[in-house]
Amino acid sequence: MSVVVVGAGIAGIACARELAAAGVAVQVRERADRIGGRMCSPELDGRPVDLGAAYFTVRDDGFAGVVDGWRSRGLVRTWTDTLDVIENGTRGTAPGPMRWAAPGGLGGLVADLATGLDVRLGHTVRSVEPGPLVDGEPTDAVVLAMPDPQVGALVDAPAARGREWRSVLAVAMRWRERVWAPFPAAFVNGHPLLTSVADDGDRRGDGAPVLVAHATGGSPAEVVAAARELLDLPEPESVHAHHWPHAAPVDGRDEPYLAGADGIALAGDGWGSSRVETAWRSGSLLGRALAQRLATG
Ligand SMILES: Cc1cc2nc3c(=O)[nH]c(=O)nc-3n(C[C@H](O)[C@H](O)[C@H](O)COP(=O)(O)OP(=O)(O)OC[C@H]3O[C@@H](n4cnc5c(N)ncnc54)[C@H](O)[C@@H]3O)c2cc1C
Repeated sequence: MSVVVVGAGIAGIACARELAAAGVAVQVRERADRIGGRMCSPELDGRPVDLGAAYFTVRDDGFAGVVDGWRSRGLVRTWTDTLDVIENGTRGTAPGPMRWAAPGGLGGLVADLATGLDVRLGHTVRSVEPGPLVDGEPTDAVVLAMPDPQVGALVDAPAARGREWRSVLAVAMRWRERVWAPFPAAFVNGHPLLTSVADDGDRRGDGAPVLVAHATGGSPAEVVAAARELLDLPEPESVHAHHWPHAAPVDGRDEPYLAGADGIALAGDGWGSSRVETAWRSGSLLGRALAQRLATG
């Protein structure tokens, strides 16, 4: 029995781990040259910066076990349970669940989970057909672990149609030194452009003078100008922007995954409410279910 998992985000890697643990031959194919998907921590000015997911939360017992493993090896740390809220010129705080961060960047956590798996990077899958066939080759099952619009580019799956996905422009800004009063991150409510600003040095724990702003649109220069105005900051030394066309679905779903009778299965954070933990759970549950289905024929 063999399964192809398309997408090396946390959902695809979690799914592949479950399949491999059950003795199923599994290959992960990823179009990017790195593992992690929207958990993305490129090195900017020689230091990783989280340009996708800002942090993760932990509710699920199974995910808590994974996080314990990361914590015991120093890969993650608790960051904060209180974020600032900036709205109409006022600044307050909002308590919430504990947010976890990774000193080396969130992307490294997915790479850690992928240890020992057969992951082909720089491998874009171009077609998936019932059978299933992946790029014309037969396999016992294929898992598409990615946002709905990316599924739609590969196969006509009715379940992946019709939902709107929000886009996000993430802009990392670095200064020579810290010129702001410490804060972990702030939700920015009611702003025409900005939705949040996070202190990357605070969450990473190295105190680096780096902020990451998330915006609904605009250009990187407009986002920098808006963040400077909001927090009364000078011009940054360097700026790096990344556009996420499918950052998160506008609405969630109740089902954790879809395992079609045609051998084509769907997983990811679109199955549930869009979060790192949701994506992990979706991939893990699907992997377990698929392994059982393949074992019983
Ligand atoms: C800006 C931003 C901020 C966020 N903030 C938070 C947060 O603070 N907390 C939180 O919990 N979550 C947050 N999230 C959401 C979180 O990042 C996602 O829920 C999670 O990473 C989704 O994982 P995934 O595996 O489902 O999908 P992805 O990580 O998107 O993985 C899909 C993978 O499939 C690959 N792929 C697609 N098509 C093909 C193809 N044809 N061939 C090969 N490979 C393909 C892609 O390259 C990608 O690597 C944020 C996301 C963004 C973008």
